[in-house]
Amino acid sequence: MNTSLKLLNDNSDSSRLVITRHNLEFVGNFIQKIPAGIAIFDHEMRYLAVSDRWFKESKLPKHNLVGKCHYDVIEDIPLKWRRIHQRALNGEHLKSDGDVYNRQDGTTEWLKWDCFPWYSETGSVGGIIIFFEHTTERKLIKQEMERTIQTLNNSNVELGRFAHMCAHDLSEPLRTISNYIQLIEQTGMENVQPEIKDYLNSVLVNAKYMHTLVSDILRYAELNTQKIKKKDVPLHEIITTIKTIFEKAFRDKSVQFTCDRLPVVKADEVLITRVFQNLISNALKFNANQPPIINIKVKDIKNAWLIAVEDNGIGIHANYHEKIFDLFERLHTKSKYGGSGIGLSLCKKIVEAHSGKIWVYSALNIGSTFYFTLPKK
Ligand code: ADP
Repeated sequence: MNTSLKLLNDNSDSSRLVITRHNLEFVGNFIQKIPAGIAIFDHEMRYLAVSDRWFKESKLPKHNLVGKCHYDVIEDIPLKWRRIHQRALNGEHLKSDGDVYNRQDGTTEWLKWDCFPWYSETGSVGGIIIFFEHTTERKLIKQEMERTIQTLNNSNVELGRFAHMCAHDLSEPLRTISNYIQLIEQTGMENVQPEIKDYLNSVLVNAKYMHTLVSDILRYAELNTQKIKKKDVPLHEIITTIKTIFEKAFRDKSVQFTCDRLPVVKADEVLITRVFQNLISNALKFNANQPPIINIKVKDIKNAWLIAVEDNGIGIHANYHEKIFDLFERLHTKSKYGGSGIGLSLCKKIVEAHSGKIWVYSALNIGSTFYFTLPKK
């Protein structure tokens, strides 16, 4: 038979590679340049053909191997390998994607290999073909990456716990300070000098501000340790909750609020509610217009839902469109607009934990639209 490599489908579901005396030379030339470690052996494990890459992969000096027995060429071949060869010679196709090979010199290598029989024209097993590739370098890089990710994860969790502990421990004395100032005010301030009244008021305002900061930090830190609990969440129910939360503010400011028909998404209900709450709270806060307009829109973008929270507020300069998502980033003084600078970083973290993205389009004095995506799967 003068055909080159021929795959014969036998009646089993595997394919048979037939090598004959006539096509052996062709097969040998063919595999020589294949960029993989590949060798063809006869029934006695003598080399019939070998690729150039075989030498590199098996760390053998380049020389003519044809006719030599594999076990004479590589003397430290473990028994396990001899058994694999034997099984292939008995007709099995064996393979591994990540086999460990402990060399006699004490080094460990990882191999990807395939070992299967070839057949003669008569249909009997003529020998075996071994394909192999060293994956040690890839394996070591992967292990290093996994170790780095694990270390990073550990220190993230530790940092989260630390921030949680700090914030938690700070809340208590802060509440005590605020309570005592309020008690002082209640006990009568008529005879107190105006400066003292101002000082006390300042302490109270700052204690309240610090309380906001601490509880925002607490929420942010919790995200590092909390597991996301995804379920089917009808977004319109979240908007109903939001409307209740902001009912008074909407009424006081005569807000014009519209909302598209929203889908059901796979998400953590509490966390996604927090995203809407932060964005709507900002749309209200950074808005001096009469009336403030807030629109929630949704678009189906195939694999995800694109949600937009649009306002007609003060807008954000283009230089800050990315920065505002950083922790503690604020563009105004505390006296002008209150806040901790954590809200948007929290939104970003939540959206990213849902494999989505968040960004803003905004123009100064015209308004801002915050977009975020929530993947459908
Ligand atoms: P905070 O509102 O507590 O200051 P955020 O992280 O929520 O913190 O927002 C960061 C900054 O981004 C805000 O201080 C503000 O300068 C700007 N910003 C956020 N939302 C809006 C908005 N809708 N319109 C204008 N500016 C905004």
